Amino acid sequence: KPETISASVVIGADGVKSQIASYAGIGKPARVLPGIQIEAPYASEDSDFVELFPGSSAPGFFAWTVPLDEKVSRIGLALEPGIACKSGNGENSPLSYLEKLLHSNPHVKARYAGGMTDFVVGGIPIGPQEKTFSDGVLLAGDAAGQTKPTSGGGIYTGAFAAKIAGKVAAEAALGGDTSARRLSEYDRLWRKGLAKELDIGMKIHDYMGKLEDTQLNELIGSLNTPSILNMITEYGDMDHPSVLMRKLMFSGNSLRLMKAFGTFLKTLF
Ligand SMILES: Cc1cc2nc3c(=O)[nH]c(=O)nc-3n(C[C@H](O)[C@H](O)[C@H](O)COP(=O)(O)OP(=O)(O)OC[C@H]3O[C@@H](n4cnc5c(N)ncnc54)[C@H](O)[C@@H]3O)c2cc1C
Repeated sequence: KPETISASVVIGADGVKSQIASYAGIGKPARVLPGIQIEAPYASEDSDFVELFPGSSAPGFFAWTVPLDEKVSRIGLALEPGIACKSGNGENSPLSYLEKLLHSNPHVKARYAGGMTDFVVGGIPIGPQEKTFSDGVLLAGDAAGQTKPTSGGGIYTGAFAAKIAGKVAAEAALGGDTSARRLSEYDRLWRKGLAKELDIGMKIHDYMGKLEDTQLNELIGSLNTPSILNMITEYGDMDHPSVLMRKLMFSGNSLRLMKAFGTFLKTLF
């Protein structure tokens, strides 16, 4: 039997297709990448490492294998529909790219044993909502577009923002003021913690997504020096890409990097 529950604040953590965001007049995230992932038998070379396949394997984003153990991995991808269309590969659905990866990529084909034990499809919002609050409403997680544009990961960032949302919502409700003005504190606080990384991530996403395979090979090849690899090992952090970018930029390798990235690096800081 339907039940009506009243609350002075509602936190919309209802995902990328958030109904609560629509009810609050905020709307849904503007850019959403279609993603697909299976869990399947896959012989990993080293189950401590994920594999990434940027470029034409998943135009505009990348494909991945994430080992659960040495025999099973999560294999998936997401793509930018606009870039996939322009690449002229005919079929542009994530499923068709996944099938191509599994059956035509020599590296993956040699390790994938066929079949699957799980299958997930979903949208990955890229770029946060301009506003994540309204009278009596806060948005958190994918509903607020808080995923990392570089990796599509939204669990860490969503949980970070959700903690702030819970605190601000509780304090506002107890104080008897749940107006948009009062709840805007949440928007300010989560952006203080995440906006810089998301902004840099967005620039990296847009830059990397447009590169052709040959350009990507050149770029990755140019990073293949002992000192750069050491720096990546020491400072690489999926959740804070700006730390590594800054270290690289201001290291003795800056000339080599400027050559590889052109003026793009300068636009990050
Ligand atoms: C293929 C793929 C792989 C991914 N891999 C990773 C990864 O490895 N690491 C990572 O950090 N992130 C990953 N992500 C992103 C991650 O899944 C999301 O960022 C994260 O799940 C967002 O959490 P959320 O709670 O905001 O939204 P969701 O996980 O979408 O949860 C929203 C919940 O709200 C419920 N809901 C919606 N509408 C209603 C309603 N009207 N009434 C009641 N309930 C409702 C839904 O059922 C759902 O349970 C991946 C995404 C995809 C698509």
